[in-house]
Amino acid sequence: MRKPIIAGNWKMFKTVAEATSFFADVKGKAEVEGVESVICAPFTNLPALVEAAKGTSIAIGAQNMHFEESGAFTGEISGAMLKELGVQYVILGHSERRAYFAETDEIVNKKTQAAFKSGLTPIVCVGEKLEEREAGHTKEVCKVQTEAALQGLTAEQAAQTVIAYEPIWAIGTGKSSTATDAEDVIAYIRDVVKGQFGEETAAAVRIQYGGSVKPNNIAEYMAQPNIDGALVGGASLEPASYIALVEGA
Ligand code: 13P
Repeated sequence: MRKPIIAGNWKMFKTVAEATSFFADVKGKAEVEGVESVICAPFTNLPALVEAAKGTSIAIGAQNMHFEESGAFTGEISGAMLKELGVQYVILGHSERRAYFAETDEIVNKKTQAAFKSGLTPIVCVGEKLEEREAGHTKEVCKVQTEAALQGLTAEQAAQTVIAYEPIWAIGTGKSSTATDAEDVIAYIRDVVKGQFGEETAAAVRIQYGGSVKPNNIAEYMAQPNIDGALVGGASLEPASYIALVEGA
């Protein structure tokens, strides 16, 4: 009932020329019945990617947006601007945004609400730092971040939100969480959503794992009952690897 979702997070990689060439290589291949395939690219690539994705089942996403619809916010991009392009998803609250751009739980919540207002589907990232994990605070951190991000949404919006559990120590390090550890935290996050919005919403919300997911470990995560896909950085940058991830889901 929950459709698995593989999302590539390109971060600050690829020019328009590189993005277009990537898309030509994955078109028709990173498209598998029963799996949602999403590419979250830098802003500058979005018009070309949305154009290239027409007639395919691949959705295009952004990696950030501002929570206001418009205004004097130099350098920012609004949800309405993304929606106008044909963008469908937006990653919000990625740990890199939280760490390097001072995004708080409150900002992430404003952005999540603004995404729905603009007709975009948010992929909200939560996850603990290494010190928090070592201190045994993983679940508490994920609970606080999840509840804060979803606060003020309707149950229907919460059910449409994609949550990405990304333990920070596993991002770009090659040190992935074991599938059973990830399942344990993700099942807990689903429970948190249940406490906040009820059983039906919790059963519907899709929760991805992210952090050093590769073609050779995707199957282990997908075999877990509560893991509904992956948010992938490094391994989403190469066409062959991205195709393998979508096929592996
Ligand atoms: P890696 O897949 O490169 O570890 O990055 C994970 C991530 O941050 C996806 O958002």
